[in-house]
Amino acid sequence: MQDIKEFNLKELRDKLLNLGSHKYYAQAIFNWIYQKGACEFSSMSNLPVSLRHALALDFYILGSALADLQVSSDKTAKFLFELKDANLVEAVSIPVSSRLTACISSQAGCKFSCNFCASGLKGFKRNLTKGEILDEVLYLKNNAKVNQLTHIVFMGTGEPLDNYDNVLEAIRIINSPVAFNIGARRITISTCGIIPGIERLNSEDLQIELSISLHAPDDQTRSRLMPVNKKYPLAALIKCCHEYTAKTNRQITFEYILIKGINSGLVYAQKLVMLLKDLKLAKVNLIPANPVFELKIFPPSQEEVNSFKECLFKAGINVTLRKERGQDIDAACGQLRLKHEKK
Ligand code: SAH
Repeated sequence: MQDIKEFNLKELRDKLLNLGSHKYYAQAIFNWIYQKGACEFSSMSNLPVSLRHALALDFYILGSALADLQVSSDKTAKFLFELKDANLVEAVSIPVSSRLTACISSQAGCKFSCNFCASGLKGFKRNLTKGEILDEVLYLKNNAKVNQLTHIVFMGTGEPLDNYDNVLEAIRIINSPVAFNIGARRITISTCGIIPGIERLNSEDLQIELSISLHAPDDQTRSRLMPVNKKYPLAALIKCCHEYTAKTNRQITFEYILIKGINSGLVYAQKLVMLLKDLKLAKVNLIPANPVFELKIFPPSQEEVNSFKECLFKAGINVTLRKERGQDIDAACGQLRLKHEKK
C-alpha cells in the first residue's frame, strides 16, 4: 500500500495508465482529495467503480491518525497525529479574523536542540514524508470550522530546510491550483538558519515567504540558545540573507523570541539594530517566550518587551509583536507531544 499523496499530477497519471485506466482521472482524484477533502476512494462518485476498487487495493489517502485535539478558548486548535510507525507529530490551526493559518511540522522530533524549545527535548526521530506533511494540511483543512484554510507556516516541530526535498514537494501540492491552491505568498518556511538550504531556496521558482529564527544578535548568545549557530554563525547567515534578498527581491522576517534574563535587555536591541541595519528587505517579529518549565524559559516583563520594540522602531526597523495564542492548550512548540510521551 502506498500513500497516494506521494505522487504529483504527472506521476499519478502514469500510475493510472499502469492500472489500465485513463490518465485524465488524475485531476479528478486531486480534486477529491485536496479540494473536497475525500478520505475514501469509495466516495469519488465520478470515477468508475472498478477504478475506485483498484485504487483502494494499492493506495491509501490518510496515513496518520488523529491522537488528540485540544481547542483553546481563542479557537486555536492543536492536533496531535500518530504516524504509521507510532511516532507523534503536532500541527496547530490558528484563526485570526478572516484567516486560518496552519502551523505544520516537517520532522518527528528535532535534532537542533534550541534550548528554549520543547520540540527538541525528546531528540530527533525522522523526517516526515511528503504524504505525512500533506496529512497535517488535509486534517486541518477538513476540520476548519469558520474560516477556510488560507495560510501555511512551517513553524511546527522540526527544521524544514533539513528535510528540504519532502517539504518543497509538499509545498508544490499546497500551492498547486488543482490541489490545495494556497498562494505561495501565503506559505512560510521558518528556519533556524541552515545556510545551504536558504541558498537552494534562492533558485526555486516559488514566491514563498522566508522566516529566520534569529533569537539573538551576537554569536555568543545565539550559540548558547541555538547550537546550530556554531555551524552557521551570524556573519555568514546575514551575508546569505543579503544574497537572498538581492536575488529574490523578497523580504525576510527575523523571528526573535524575547526570553527573560537572556536576550531581552536594551543592549540586545541595540546590537540587533547594528546587525540588521544594512538589510533593506527585513522585518523583525518579536515573540514573548512561551514558558517552558522544563527549560526554565519565561517571557520578560511587558515594559521590557515594549522598550525592546521601541528601540528597533526608532532605528527605522520594521518591527511587529506577535500575540501569543493557545497558551491554555500547550501550543508552544512540542509541548503537547511532550505531555503525551511523558505519560
Ligand atoms: N526549525 C524551524 C521551525 C520550527 S521552530 C525554526 O527554527 O524556525 C519555529 C518557532 O517556534 C521558533 O522560531 C519560535 O518562534 C517558536 N518557538 C519555539 N519555542 C518557543 C517558545 N518557548 N516560545 C515562543 N516561541 C517558541
